[in-house]
Amino acid sequence: MLTQLFSSSDSRRSVFSTKTLASLAKGRIPGQVVVQYTDHCNASCAQCAMRVSNDFPRTKLDVDQVRRLLDAMAERNVQAVSFTGGEPLLYLDEIVSLINHAAQVGIQYIRTGTNGFLFRGSNPDDFEKKIHGIAEKLAATSINTFWVSVDSADPETHETNRGLRGIVRNLERGLSIFREYGLYPSANLGINRLTGGPKPIVCRRPDGSLDADRFRQEFTNAFARFYEFVEGLGFTIVNACYPMSLDADEAGQNAVYAATSEDDFIRFSAEEKPLLFQALMDTVPTFRDRLRVFTPRSSLLSLIRQYQGQSEECYGCRGGIDFFFIDSKDMNTYPCGYRGGENLGKFWDLDLHSRDTSMRCLECDWECFRDPSELIGPLLDLRTQPFQLAKRCFSDKTFFTTWLEDVRYYRACGYFNARTAPDYAALARFRRV
Ligand code: SF4
Ligand code: SF4
Repeated sequence: MLTQLFSSSDSRRSVFSTKTLASLAKGRIPGQVVVQYTDHCNASCAQCAMRVSNDFPRTKLDVDQVRRLLDAMAERNVQAVSFTGGEPLLYLDEIVSLINHAAQVGIQYIRTGTNGFLFRGSNPDDFEKKIHGIAEKLAATSINTFWVSVDSADPETHETNRGLRGIVRNLERGLSIFREYGLYPSANLGINRLTGGPKPIVCRRPDGSLDADRFRQEFTNAFARFYEFVEGLGFTIVNACYPMSLDADEAGQNAVYAATSEDDFIRFSAEEKPLLFQALMDTVPTFRDRLRVFTPRSSLLSLIRQYQGQSEECYGCRGGIDFFFIDSKDMNTYPCGYRGGENLGKFWDLDLHSRDTSMRCLECDWECFRDPSELIGPLLDLRTQPFQLAKRCFSDKTFFTTWLEDVRYYRACGYFNARTAPDYAALARFRRV
């Protein structure tokens, strides 16, 4: 049953190897490391302290050192690595060589992405030549995920925020060239108040209180507009990053990963967040047959419950246990991008076996770590505490039916592999009538 659920629908390839199932039995899950290759960036996003206008000493990792890092990851059963930034594709050839190295040492899921600057260009011949060159380079690697950031359903709003002009009008053609090489990039939304268009979603009454119903409805409409927009551009995969605003009482105040901001554009109150997550949860099913929508509804359900004071029903984040973040400044390891007070030193010196697996952090909503932690939580329970899991299945049917549906959907999506076309016949099973 387990193997069947986690084999991909197209190739019957098992997502979890025997080695991985063995580590689940020991209370561990396949490792994931986010490597911030650089904090150099050429964009001006309001949601991020790495924007080009911020003056701070910029850094980049050394390629040979990252190769050593990848060797250490493979030795420790890390199955997924993301090369992020800043803008990683400012160093396209280095990233390509590191993707190749990661694949050679046996890392299965390799991801990188771009803020989209590559899609700029006004001369059609030069543009086509450039994109063919990039697609050919990436297609020759074993990359599994290639994201392109999109901030809004309104092109002008997106480009104004990024400070990068002429991207959206070229994306449609660019994506069709990528498809010629068998590459299916994902649209990556960082949820913000302009997701649906140029007018910020605020929904405050004259007395300053939140109009909750209107807020939820406006965000439901905004997410639908966004999905329709990226589908129209030719994306077949879409992801949503939950807002990482910096509040004084959030883990974010020590963030080592500077992809955070205090800007109102991205800042949501604890009252707004469950409504935001509910709006996304309501919208996702209506697009599951048209796009491969990465966002798991079971994770959103847990986040909603957490913000409603039921955090005991959430699976703890695996940041600092099985998931880690590598900082571009000194190549040191942190539990995640946000627990900046916990410098764990060099990854190759880390003894992963000695990590405290009872840690249960729910301090932030970083989708990169929270979503997989929720998705894999029941599997971990199945291997380590099956009776407790059985008890919870009976007492919390809502979570488990939602989770099971997510797992079935992930399988129908071929686990969001950027190297396969969507199987619309498989996705049609999730059509909402
Ligand atoms: S969000 Fe990404 S593209 Fe935008 S400024 Fe930050 S690192 Fe650069
Ligand atoms: S919830 Fe996860 S990503 Fe967020 S602070 Fe805790 S360990 Fe880090």
